[in-house]
Amino acid sequence: MIVKTQAIVLRMIPFSETSRVVLWLTSDHGKIATIIKGAHRRRSPFVGQVDLFYTCELLVYLRLFRGLHIVKECSPLKTRTLLRSRWRATACASYFAELAAQISPLNAPHPELFRVLDMALDYFADQSALELGLFWFELKLMKAMGLAPQLKECLRCHRPLQEDNDFVAEPGARAARRGQERESVFSCARGGILCKACAPMVPTSLNAGMPITPDILGILRFWQASRSWRSAQSATCTPRQIRELERIMGFFMQYHLEIANPARAVALSILRTRLGPTS
Ligand SMILES: [Zn+2]
Repeated sequence: MIVKTQAIVLRMIPFSETSRVVLWLTSDHGKIATIIKGAHRRRSPFVGQVDLFYTCELLVYLRLFRGLHIVKECSPLKTRTLLRSRWRATACASYFAELAAQISPLNAPHPELFRVLDMALDYFADQSALELGLFWFELKLMKAMGLAPQLKECLRCHRPLQEDNDFVAEPGARAARRGQERESVFSCARGGILCKACAPMVPTSLNAGMPITPDILGILRFWQASRSWRSAQSATCTPRQIRELERIMGFFMQYHLEIANPARAVALSILRTRLGPTS
């Protein structure tokens, strides 16, 4: 069966002197592994048509050849050329592409994951607030996987949770001072919040829990309710808040996705490396 679909390049591996294996996340057929025969030949129609982080229109013959489907035609829809020169953005794109490769099973359609990855790569190729964008897209990716945390009410008593929206209007001392008042627990295992009253009644060891401050809860709720990545850019976070977001999102994702993704630590480390204004 020959199908046409949009597809994002997740990995590229040499297969022989002239062919290569490409792992894609497609909009209609989930993750597929393909072979592009003759990709390295000088006059190949595939020259310049496929590269890492491209979104392409793909004509693919869904018939396995040595465990791989066969690409018949490929034309790029988005090349995201800035990901070839902005190495911080490249680190973020690599992390997300690898994450998508790890969490999506072969040949299982997942259009929402495709949409989030496509949007994330657009963002990293074009925007500057990379660190907050990375956390925002992690939250959206978890939602796409059906793992959005419950942030509106306590998991145990179901009372509405107190939050702190000062991080938008007044990101300075007031928000930081309030942030010192630890009062609720983010339960990674149960995917939500235990309020100050309920948290002591549930052993942290059973929840894979960690304290969460009202300001961090406010940021996560603000981002979870938003449909546009512009909300990531409108939040001005203190260094402590960024560390907390990194810790909570990292632990939550690792707990539920059950993967070790060292590319996340590498991406965050690169984002914090200060070498020059053009990097
Ligand atoms: Zn409660």
